[in-house]
Amino acid sequence: MVDLKGQYEKIKDTVNYSILEVLDTTAFINGPEVQSFQKELEEYLDVKHVIPCANGTDALQIAMMGLGLKPGDEVITADFTFAATVEVIALLQLTPVLVDVEPDTFNIDPEAIRKAITPKTKAIVPVHLFGQSANMDAIMEIAEEHGLYVIEDNAQAIGANYHFKNGNTKKAGAIGHVASTSFFPSKNLGCYGDGGAIFTNDDELAHTIRGIVNHGMYERYHHDVVGVNSRLDSIQAAVLRAKLPNLNEYNKARQEAARKYSEAFKDVEGVIVPFTEGEADTHVYHQYTLKIANGKRDALAKHLLEKGIPFGVYYPIPLHSQKAYKDERYNEADFPVTNQLVQEVISLPMHTELDEEQIDYITKTIKDFLNQ
Ligand SMILES: *Cc1c(COP(=O)(O)O)cnc(C)c1O
Repeated sequence: MVDLKGQYEKIKDTVNYSILEVLDTTAFINGPEVQSFQKELEEYLDVKHVIPCANGTDALQIAMMGLGLKPGDEVITADFTFAATVEVIALLQLTPVLVDVEPDTFNIDPEAIRKAITPKTKAIVPVHLFGQSANMDAIMEIAEEHGLYVIEDNAQAIGANYHFKNGNTKKAGAIGHVASTSFFPSKNLGCYGDGGAIFTNDDELAHTIRGIVNHGMYERYHHDVVGVNSRLDSIQAAVLRAKLPNLNEYNKARQEAARKYSEAFKDVEGVIVPFTEGEADTHVYHQYTLKIANGKRDALAKHLLEKGIPFGVYYPIPLHSQKAYKDERYNEADFPVTNQLVQEVISLPMHTELDEEQIDYITKTIKDFLNQ
């Protein structure tokens, strides 16, 4: 599915040198590499504050703690996503409110958000799924209308652009009140271990969050709020500093691979390729996800397994059906899109090192199977 080794071979000298430098300085925690990476990412994203932390799940949790959300507050998020998003809502004893997604982008449906708003609603968490921003025009409008916070889960869309209806462009993750991301190795900007970050343009929130990630300390040994211990270590920051200058190029390689896949599938009946609206820079293809119609997804998956072609089913079970997050408030009729997507989606190998031959082999195998 990914080729971390192939990518590493190309940047080996830079990465090895940066890591050795950290070893030499022994500044393993909060060293200069962390400070520099933070600044470089702020510039790249055009946000005022990047606060590095230990992973993308922590980033989400810390963002919610920073906003001062309280037990019982309702937080609306997508039913079709990775569990981390709903997990931290539940951990903080907030009330997750799962809503359906859109059939073309797989992203949270603004109309479904509107319907789910109650007097207890405090925040919306759009997940920019598979590398493409949710409909932030509509989401920011709803949030403003109802006085809600928007927390962007940007773990899958770092580097993607979002073009507003008014012509403005911003990076995904630089739009809401606060955003989180993950540097898990297979993400578009991945380190060689765990890592994450929180972004915001709000000075006060950034200050609050910098204390929360460090045991609630704003002054050494003065614990003003309940915090956590969540740090990006210097070795991971060194890896990320070596890779950040390549991020645009990495995302372009993904977009090019996606373009070739979609071209190959363009006349294949029953295969629906990923949807992008307008410009190509809006989707950074963390995943390249097809919809396979006519109930053939599972048979195709079995065939790919036999042929030794990697694939993934993200995600096979709606969050509202997961044992941990079941709730009698949910009604199956409210999730028609997610309930169908879990039966139709299949993600193909997607990374920066995919070559023509691999794409040809993968697409030919799929076409031959479906045309049988
Ligand atoms: C990867 C991911 C996370 C969690 O990131 P970790 O660094 O693994 O904790 C959260 N949300 C989404 C949408 C993700 O893809």
